Amino acid sequence: MEISQTTILSKIASFMINCNNLWIKHSDGKITKNAVKDILINLDELPFYDWDIYSDFHYYRIYDGEVNKMGDYSTSRGCINNCSYCFNKLLRKSYGMKHSLIRRYSVERIIDELVYLKEKYNITFIKFHDSDFLNKSNSYFDKFSSLYQKYVNLPNTVNGCVELLI
Ligand code: SF4
Repeated sequence: MEISQTTILSKIASFMINCNNLWIKHSDGKITKNAVKDILINLDELPFYDWDIYSDFHYYRIYDGEVNKMGDYSTSRGCINNCSYCFNKLLRKSYGMKHSLIRRYSVERIIDELVYLKEKYNITFIKFHDSDFLNKSNSYFDKFSSLYQKYVNLPNTVNGCVELLI
C-alpha cells in the first residue's frame, strides 16, 4: 500500500505539471506557471453537484434565528464590474479578456439541478453565490422566478450590486 500511494502521488504530480491553469511550486521553491486557457462557456455541460462527500453537519447553518439545511449554488460566473480588489478583475486579465464575460446556466438546467439537490439532500434553504445574481435580463428573471416558485420554492439569499435594484 505504501508503495502504491507513492506511485499514485507521483503520477498525479507529473500530470499536474503539464495541466493548464495551474501554477506548480516545486520542492526547490521554483514556480512553473502553466498556460491559462480552456474556459467553459456553456455551463450546462457541467454535471450536477455531487455533495455526497459532505457530512450532514456541513449543511446546517443559522439564518435569521433559525437553523436551516443550506445548499450552496451559483447560477453564473463572472461580473460586469471591474472592482480593483476583486478576483473577477484578475480572472479577466488572466484570460486576456477585454470585456467581462458572464457565463450562465440555462434556467431549465438550474431548476432541474435545484430540484435534484433539494430532494436528494433535503435542503431547506438555497444560498446563491453568484458574483452578481441581479445581473440578468428581465426575461431570464421572469422565467427563473416563475419556475423557481413552482418547482423549488425554498427561501434563499443572493449577492447583488445595489445599483441594479434602482
Ligand atoms: S463581484 Fe462585486 S466586487 Fe467583484 S467586480 Fe463584481 S461588483 Fe465588484
